[in-house]
Amino acid sequence: MKAAPFRYVRAESIAHGLETLAAYGDEARILAGGQSLLPALALRLSAPAVLVDINRVAALSGEPQVSDDWVRLPALMRHAQLITSPPVRAHLSLLHRAAPWIAHPGIRNQGTVCGSLAVGDPASELPACAVAAGARLILQSHARGTRVVPAREFYVGLMQTACAPDEMIVAVEFPRMDGLRTGFREVARRRGDYAMVGLAGVARRGGRGLTQTGLTFFGIGDRPVLASSICAAIETADTVSQAVALALAAYERDITPNADLWCSGPAKKHIGRSVLEEVVHDLFQ
Ligand SMILES: Cc1cc2nc3c(=O)[nH]c(=O)nc-3n(C[C@H](O)[C@H](O)[C@H](O)COP(=O)(O)OP(=O)(O)OC[C@H]3O[C@@H](n4cnc5c(N)ncnc54)[C@H](O)[C@@H]3O)c2cc1C
Repeated sequence: MKAAPFRYVRAESIAHGLETLAAYGDEARILAGGQSLLPALALRLSAPAVLVDINRVAALSGEPQVSDDWVRLPALMRHAQLITSPPVRAHLSLLHRAAPWIAHPGIRNQGTVCGSLAVGDPASELPACAVAAGARLILQSHARGTRVVPAREFYVGLMQTACAPDEMIVAVEFPRMDGLRTGFREVARRRGDYAMVGLAGVARRGGRGLTQTGLTFFGIGDRPVLASSICAAIETADTVSQAVALALAAYERDITPNADLWCSGPAKKHIGRSVLEEVVHDLFQ
């Protein structure tokens, strides 16, 4: 099948891209890495009237910008850069760990971090990392200027986000993870597939236990699932065995994975126990 006809606009600047989005509203789609959008067009799951290609906008690409507390990733940061970029390795270890789990090298070379956040697939690695770490998305529109949305408020339903049709994610900012422990586990049918179940975690290891804990499951709900009660439980633990026991007790009580086409709810619940135990070990030790 071929894509339905569409008009192609190459954005020359952020302002030009935003003006085009404003002019066409829900009829327009941003084209970033194309790794989700182009298959959807080819299958006619999506048939926008206009594609706004942002790949030549210099202000949306480049290296991460590191400030005192945050690392800002521009919209066109590719998945592959999360593996190779020295600032990501130094300051965003969770993303550095997660990136090799995203698809395959060819897709990682094209696909963008912000494109993945925009799609918001509930089995996707990066939205879960953004929620776990407390990232924030920088959105711009022609009509309303800039607004900042915490990742924990960005996902509102199954592949539905707070990004309006006339908005562009121009960057995502992650809190610096220097000195934090991070853990990442994923179980997929084959390497490179979306997760059956995964878990992204960050925490600070203090004198006796953990603080600032963020644990987010993916592949178990209609969006990334921040496991707040598990985070609170393990922050009361003094030892890793206590932390695992408390985490599993809260997990049994509070987490009920949804089945999908590839895996039943009970099977996901079983996988979730093992990824949780491993991530808690990573954070504690
Ligand atoms: C075979 C295959 C396997 C894959 N496996 C995985 C996987 O295991 N894990 C995973 O997470 N992903 C996977 N992907 C998807 C891949 O990560 C995509 O790159 C990503 O989901 C979308 O990023 P993109 O830059 O390609 O966006 P595009 O495909 O260009 O765009 C996707 C959507 O996001 C919107 N969008 C893009 N950028 C912005 C922006 N800056 N602001 C607002 N809206 C924007 C577009 O308008 C479009 O609606 C896979 C893809 C393929 C083809």
